[in-house]
Amino acid sequence: MKNGTVPQPSTALVAYGWDSLLDSAFAPHAERGLLPGRVVRVDRGLCDVVVPGGADGTVTVRADTEDVFTRDPMRVACTGDWAAVDTTPVTGPAVRALLPRRTTFVRSTSSKRSEGQVLAANVDFAVIAVSIAAELDLGRLERFVSLAWTSGAQPMVVLTKADLVPDTTYLLADARSAAPGVDVRVVSAATGDGVAELAQALAGVTSVLLGQSGAGKSTLTNALLGREAQEVQAIRDSDGKGRHTTTTRDLLPLPGGGVVIDTPGLRGVGLWDADAGLTQAFSDIEDLAGRCRFQDCSHTAEPGCAVLAALEDGSLAYRRLDSYRKLLRENAWIASRTDARLRAEMRREWKQRSAAGREMYERKRGGGHRKVY
Ligand code: GDP
Ligand code: ZN
Repeated sequence: MKNGTVPQPSTALVAYGWDSLLDSAFAPHAERGLLPGRVVRVDRGLCDVVVPGGADGTVTVRADTEDVFTRDPMRVACTGDWAAVDTTPVTGPAVRALLPRRTTFVRSTSSKRSEGQVLAANVDFAVIAVSIAAELDLGRLERFVSLAWTSGAQPMVVLTKADLVPDTTYLLADARSAAPGVDVRVVSAATGDGVAELAQALAGVTSVLLGQSGAGKSTLTNALLGREAQEVQAIRDSDGKGRHTTTTRDLLPLPGGGVVIDTPGLRGVGLWDADAGLTQAFSDIEDLAGRCRFQDCSHTAEPGCAVLAALEDGSLAYRRLDSYRKLLRENAWIASRTDARLRAEMRREWKQRSAAGREMYERKRGGGHRKVY
C-alpha cells in the first residue's frame, strides 16, 4: 500500500464523507486487513458498500452482513453506515463491523412489540422538503423538525416549488416561526432558484431528504446531482399517496461534495421517543416555560406564567402551543409501548452521538457556525 498505486482509503472515500475522525475510529479494523466502506443500500441481509479500489478510486461491492444473525434491529446495517469490509472470503465480501454511528434515523415498526428500525445513519443535515404549492401544514413541519433533532442531525427546511407562488414572503415567515433556530429557505427545481445555494450548504456533509410524498424530493435530488438519478414520480395511485419509484442506490455523492441519502423508508416516518428532539424543536416555548414564576407551571391559569403572557401579546401562536402539547402526548404514548431496555439504550446512544455529532458539525462548518445546543 506504500507505492501509491493503490488508492488510500482516506482519500478514495472523501467524496463519501470520510474524515480523519473516521480514520482513527477505523484503525483497529485496518490492522485486521479490513477495508472501510460506506453502505449505500441495504436489501435483506445484503448491502451495497462503496470501498476503495478500481480505476475510479472506489468500487461498489455487494456484501453479506453478519447482522443477518442478530435479532436486534438497531444493530442491522443501514444506508449511511460506515462498515469494515472483508473482501477476502471466497463466498464474497462480508461486513465484519460497523463504526459507531454519529446520528440515526429510527422508525418504530408497526408491530405490537414496539421495536426500532434504523433507516439511515450518520446524517449531518436533515433537509425537510415542504411544497408551498399546497397549503402549509405547520404541525406536520414541526413533527419533521422534532424528528430531525431527535436523530442528532441538524434540521433544515426547504420550501419547494417556489415558481408556483408569486410571493413567498409570508410563507417563509410562517415556516420560520414553526422552526426556530433552523435554516429555512426557498427553492425551485423548475427554475433552479436557490438550488446552487442549497448545494453549497450541503457540500461536504451527509444529508437526507425528508418530507411528504409529492413534496419534490426526487426532483430536488436530481437538481442537486445535475442528472436524473432519482425517478420522479409521474404516476399516482388511486389513493393519491403516489408510489415510490426510486430504483437506484439510496446514497449519492453530490458533484460539489457531500452525499445525499434518499431512502424510501424515510418518507413516512413517525415519531419515535422524540423527547430530546421535541424540546429542541420547541425551544422557544421551553425558554418561556423557564421564565414562569412556578417551576411546575402548567401554563393554564397560573399567575406569572410567561407562556400565557406570550400568547396574550401574540409573540407565541396558540397553534404552536397546541402542536407542542399534541406531539408530547403522542410521544408519551409511543414511549409507553416501547421496550424500556431499548429506550434506555437509545437515550445513551443519543447522548454519546450528540457529543460526537456536535464536534463533527463544528469542525465541518469550520467552527464559525451557530452553536446548536
Ligand atoms: P417526491 O415524492 O417528494 O420525490 O416528489 P417529486 O420529486 O416526485 O415531485 C412531485 C411533483 O412535483 C412532480 O410532478 C414534479 O414535477 C413536481 N415538482 C417538483 N419540483 C418542482 C418545482 O420546483 N416546481 C414545480 N412547478 N413542480 C415541481
Ligand atoms: Zn407557565
